[in-house]
Amino acid sequence: MLHITVTAKKSVNPEQDGLGRPYVGYEAGMTQDEMYEANHGEWAIGVRGQNERYALFSFGRTVIQAVEIDSLERTTLYGRDPEEKRDDRYTIHGKILSKGHPVFDKYVGSATPVSIARNPVRYFEDAEFDSVAGRPCRCGCGEISTGGDFVPGHDQKAIHERIARIGTVAEFLDWMDVVRPASLSR
Ligand SMILES: [Zn+2]
Repeated sequence: MLHITVTAKKSVNPEQDGLGRPYVGYEAGMTQDEMYEANHGEWAIGVRGQNERYALFSFGRTVIQAVEIDSLERTTLYGRDPEEKRDDRYTIHGKILSKGHPVFDKYVGSATPVSIARNPVRYFEDAEFDSVAGRPCRCGCGEISTGGDFVPGHDQKAIHERIARIGTVAEFLDWMDVVRPASLSR
């Protein structure tokens, strides 16, 4: 699971914030929607976190929110010079879980399951949920694959989508033979 530690609520400049937020963080009394709006981006999520299905958010040492991840949207931050790329950040899009969902019931309101660290973004194993979680299908459909990179049949869908970018199958073969001649691939 992905685990993110949020700060106390603080104002930010909406013009400089990638999500146009007036504030980020948490304060007592916030609704779940407000917590999500304030804290679902923009995080430096590494490769390890790209296939997680759930994200927990903690404030202090208590879990305040659980989200079932639909997708991660990448945004690139730039310095003053627009040419100067600084960092890739991700915004988590997903469903806010509530009472009755097993992940919510297990974690929200309980002690943070990860140790204290400087980095707000952490990952941890939960055998109960990770084992059935699978990972997003590589074709990009948004479905969860539990048996590999693709939901059954979606490898074909993915490859045909690539072929269609070039044109017909014949055109794809012509293109492929140029970019990767057979004599070089053996
Ligand atoms: Zn798929």
